[in-house]
Amino acid sequence: MALRPYIVGNWKMNGTRAMLSEARAIDRSAQRLMKVEVALAPPFTLIHAVHREAEQIGIGAQDCHAKADGAFTGDVSAAMVADAGAKFVILGHSERREGHGETDADVQAKAAAALDAGLKLIVCCGETLATREAGGAVAHVTAQLEGSLPDTIDNAGERLAVAYEPIWAIGTGRTATVEDVAEMHRAIRALLIARYGEEEGSLVRILYGGSVKPDNARELLSTDEVGGALVGGASLTAESFLGIVMAAVDMQDA
Ligand code: PEP
Repeated sequence: MALRPYIVGNWKMNGTRAMLSEARAIDRSAQRLMKVEVALAPPFTLIHAVHREAEQIGIGAQDCHAKADGAFTGDVSAAMVADAGAKFVILGHSERREGHGETDADVQAKAAAALDAGLKLIVCCGETLATREAGGAVAHVTAQLEGSLPDTIDNAGERLAVAYEPIWAIGTGRTATVEDVAEMHRAIRALLIARYGEEEGSLVRILYGGSVKPDNARELLSTDEVGGALVGGASLTAESFLGIVMAAVDMQDA
């Protein structure tokens, strides 16, 4: 049976305790919108506080280190974010791949550490505009996922989500066409089934990310093989994030 649509907010490097009221408002609404799974990934500094506020939404981290502990100044391990209340971690976001030089192998190592710590995963992938314009988007993204995803994972459908985020669509106001999203998500689905088997590979939710807003969410979320959204800028206020959640709810009702 298909899992509920998954709408995840990525607060990136935004948010102080003043933003807890937004998290609280999102959580209170999510309690009435159970047809959709709602989650937030605040910065490390707010994970515990948001976890304490939240009764319904899932709380996650935006990254973790591949090692369990040790002399890694400034880093945070999977066990630490789990201890703070995180239930999942976003890995391989393009801002980490580009800004911190993370390779596919790094992402795969972090994924293993996160699974060991009992976390669920959202593994990100996406191509640059140059790669898309050269016609290599599907090959690039599938190769990226081949190198980034765990080889095996128990209950992959429950424990893994993949987020396809064309880099040129993140924070730019541009979105991919529904045809391009559908083509990419079908290719990702084929890869997931080849890797994790028909049953589990079919359940893994493939999220779209890249300038998702309340006014384009419905079209993107109703695209073939789109199981939810990873939302950056529009997750920073309850009003805009809940607009996206409501689009997912309406589609369930339709
Ligand atoms: C993201 O960073 O994951 C993202 C999709 O950002 P935005 O929604 O702002 O494009």
